[in-house]
Amino acid sequence: MGILEVKNVGKRFGGLQALGDVNLSIAEGSVHAIIGPNGAGKSTLLNCLVGKLIPDTGSVMFDGQSVLGRKPYEINQMGISRVFQTPEIFGDLTVMENMLIPCFAKRDGAFELNAITRVVNQHDVIDKAEAMLSDMNMIEKRHMHASSLSRGDKRRLEIGMCLAQDPRLLLLDEPTAGMARADTNNTIDLLKQISDERDITIAIIEHDMHVVFSLAQRITVLAQGTPLVEDTPDKIKGHPKVREAYLGE
Ligand code: ADP
Ligand code: MG
Repeated sequence: MGILEVKNVGKRFGGLQALGDVNLSIAEGSVHAIIGPNGAGKSTLLNCLVGKLIPDTGSVMFDGQSVLGRKPYEINQMGISRVFQTPEIFGDLTVMENMLIPCFAKRDGAFELNAITRVVNQHDVIDKAEAMLSDMNMIEKRHMHASSLSRGDKRRLEIGMCLAQDPRLLLLDEPTAGMARADTNNTIDLLKQISDERDITIAIIEHDMHVVFSLAQRITVLAQGTPLVEDTPDKIKGHPKVREAYLGE
């Protein structure tokens, strides 16, 4: 049994069958990549895992519990945290203020915007935010406005904000899209470090094969809403169906 078990999931948008019959098992502690051409249904599948979309058919079990019918914040509290394609951080706030948000939310089960202005004497939350920024190698940038960070550092902050919620499963949708090579390599190193040092499972949707082959232990290839093949990176590289359907050979 994987930490995440997707069985026979289908999702239709009007006349378009975005997901046909998806079966997917993600092993605890692994880095599992989901690849496939544009429009294959990757983001739709991810949205079905976090409660943003409700599948028409099938089941999604996280650690033995169904996520279907739960609200996104409830699924987040179960231990699934999600990184968006465009970094979801607050540009007008400092790096530290951004990091305080998930730390408050984790402690209090909710977050009020004015909490940041009342941080005096909230040492547990401040300590946690500082520790997380140190782990992310961002502590010296704590006073910078988030909007002035490089693309790679914005992503690094956002991933840190997800980790501050102590998730067991981290989901990422094309985290290196639009990044320069140096920022991409930075993100690869960060995700490797997270996978090695933390008790966390990572599922990553990714277009960049360099990222996929640097990180993943298992790869699922999705084509037209259905998994075409699932295997180790070595086998995927040489798989004739994958070369034909995905790598365009
Ligand atoms: P991918 O992430 O693999 O590029 P998506 O999951 O975004 O693919 O999209 C799969 C298919 O579903 C595409 O044809 C897309 O146009 C369609 N689609 C995605 N979201 C919606 C939506 N909210 N309404 C209608 N069609 C959608
Ligand atoms: Mg997508």
